[in-house]
Amino acid sequence: MVGAFLSRRRRAVVAAVFSAAIFSLIVFFFRDRNGILDGVEFSASYENSSGGMLKVFLTGDEKYRIFRPIAEFPEEFISSILVQEDRRFFHHNGVNIVSVFRAAFETYVRRSRVIGASTITMQTAKLRYKINSRSVGGKLAQILFSYRMEMRHSKQEILEAYLNLAPCGRNIEGFEAAARYFFGKGMPATSFDEQILLCVLPQNPVKRCPSKDSVPPELSEAMGRLSESVGGSVVVPNLVCAFPDEAIHYSRHLSMISSSRKIVRTTIDSAMQEIVSRQIVRYVNMRRTIGIKNACAVLLDSESMEIRAYCGSANFYDNSIRGQVDGNSSRRSPGSTLKPFIYALALDQGKIHSHTLLKDTPVAFSEYAPDNYGNDFKGPLKAYEALIQSRNVPAVALARSLSNPDLYGFLANSGVYLPHGRDFYGLSIVLGSADVSPLDLCRLYSAFLNDGIARDILGEEPVGERRILSAESAFVVRKMLCRNAAPDGYSEPPFETGFKTGTSIGFKDAWTAGFFGKYVLVVWIGNFDGVGNNAFLGRSAAAPLFFNIALELMERGFVKRFASRAEESGELNVKEIDVCSVSGAIPNGDCPSTEKAYFIPGVSPIEKCKVHRVVSVGGKKVLGEFWTSDLLELFELAGLPRDSPAAEFNDGKPPQILSPLSSTEYILDKKRASIVLNASADSDAGELFWFSGTEFLARSKPNEKVEWRPSSTGKREITVTDSRGRSSSRIISVSSIE
Ligand SMILES: [Zn+2]
Repeated sequence: MVGAFLSRRRRAVVAAVFSAAIFSLIVFFFRDRNGILDGVEFSASYENSSGGMLKVFLTGDEKYRIFRPIAEFPEEFISSILVQEDRRFFHHNGVNIVSVFRAAFETYVRRSRVIGASTITMQTAKLRYKINSRSVGGKLAQILFSYRMEMRHSKQEILEAYLNLAPCGRNIEGFEAAARYFFGKGMPATSFDEQILLCVLPQNPVKRCPSKDSVPPELSEAMGRLSESVGGSVVVPNLVCAFPDEAIHYSRHLSMISSSRKIVRTTIDSAMQEIVSRQIVRYVNMRRTIGIKNACAVLLDSESMEIRAYCGSANFYDNSIRGQVDGNSSRRSPGSTLKPFIYALALDQGKIHSHTLLKDTPVAFSEYAPDNYGNDFKGPLKAYEALIQSRNVPAVALARSLSNPDLYGFLANSGVYLPHGRDFYGLSIVLGSADVSPLDLCRLYSAFLNDGIARDILGEEPVGERRILSAESAFVVRKMLCRNAAPDGYSEPPFETGFKTGTSIGFKDAWTAGFFGKYVLVVWIGNFDGVGNNAFLGRSAAAPLFFNIALELMERGFVKRFASRAEESGELNVKEIDVCSVSGAIPNGDCPSTEKAYFIPGVSPIEKCKVHRVVSVGGKKVLGEFWTSDLLELFELAGLPRDSPAAEFNDGKPPQILSPLSSTEYILDKKRASIVLNASADSDAGELFWFSGTEFLARSKPNEKVEWRPSSTGKREITVTDSRGRSSSRIISVSSIE
């Protein structure tokens, strides 16, 4: 009874185990029909714009594996592989049972060396599923997996997996990685000799793997045998035996944006990349003593929006500067490098033209006290001068006048990442409180060359193409920036070069962003740990590196003359007009000299010069400068006093005329041929200017007596004006006794 139960139970167990086995087999053979290579990690690999390899990264399991589809392998290579490994590959069902038994006999009975018994399918199964085929169990698993592979996949798919997994020595797997490593080229470009070398590697990768200076005899012998079989003779080809190591930051940057099994063709121009990285290394080496240890730079072709060179730090492998950090995609305070956009917006909003006179004052704004390094101020100066001299006060004043958009709205509309709201930044956004990356600056500056349109940089996360400025303001600001003089010690470059420097608060970041030809270049100098250094000044630290790179690119013929599309097609609505070279306003006929300014018809402000006026002095016509009192004061504060009778403004108490007396007849003779002019005035009056009608008579200090000799007789209106423009007058009559 008990025995019968057990035996019934045993039968049930056997049946259950058997069913489970069948079920498992069915699942094994029929579940998830993924590609063979699904789940295999391939190296992220990046090529330059002409197909040369830049960088191959190790996989998570520390291998170099570069995927190439079978269709891209040379046919002769595939035939050689089949001759070498598995002549009947297209005719068997995955396993050659006779060979398996013979190999088993040799291995386990005669204990001789393992002989090649595996088909390409079996090798692929072993490689793909990491099977140890030396044990009996492993061998069985390999056979099962091979059958399954043949059931599920085409011969092409199996062969493709083999070509991409075959061990080729060291930690190199697959023939594409091997061709790149040994010969520095992709499979399609390999020669017959090179192909034969690759074909024989997987059979004994340890013994046959060559190095740059030594070729194992096993390798040359195997190559000789194979070349005889396929017909031909070979010599060992030239060996490179290294992966390239160019544009590492850029390759890593791209690998973070997206991952792909395929080799990524980048837009890097290796020659330009070499120039930029060499110039950075040289520059940093020369200035190490003043604390400049690190720099980054990115070069963009604004026409195609392709990145041509990208150095994220001075040395990727230098841990003392945290060289692996990619400065080009890190956001930092841009200092003054966003100021050109304030001027462009002010142009678009009709606040200025290129020569509008702006005030650089020592006045602090309530929201933010701007501080030009050095604490000096320049008095009144023209818009383009204020921009290229990076004056803070005019920039803040302009920024304050902007609306719809202001600088914040502009940056938000341009796709710049702004983690805080408008109020958080206030006017300090003008001086760099909103962080941007060199890549951001590249995209923004490209709008100066692309008629105001910011397009997406190829390969970067798309922001969306958008117009951020008018073609007109983009053009005018470009021309304004081109007037920025080269840094000390540099001659003017042969191609029009516009740039803007920037220094962040605390001297943490020195920037230069600019353009020459169709290229935009952004250069940054600083420390990745954020430690400031008073050598980190945009103009003296970053601009020379910008020029070193730009000048070499020009010398080497990469740069051509540039005109934007709107400029070329004549669609640009910008006029060059004459303006008063002193006031920057439209000349009034009395202005002594003029210069050319850029003007946007229908948008730019039209204001006639109010400074120049011809007055008669002593019967002669003399040109006077009549500044408004605020500008006049500013000139004086800036140490640039203008020789000027003030006018027009009448606020505060006017000077009181003490002499001549009102409504008095002055009779002059030979003894007494002059009239005394004297006035008292407020303490802020400055100098006093005396007129008879429009005729300038004299200047005096308050309470100072000066003599005036009238040249004719009659009724006169005597006026005294102080330097704040306040005046008073009285009428006298002059007669003489001869
Ligand atoms: Zn004028």
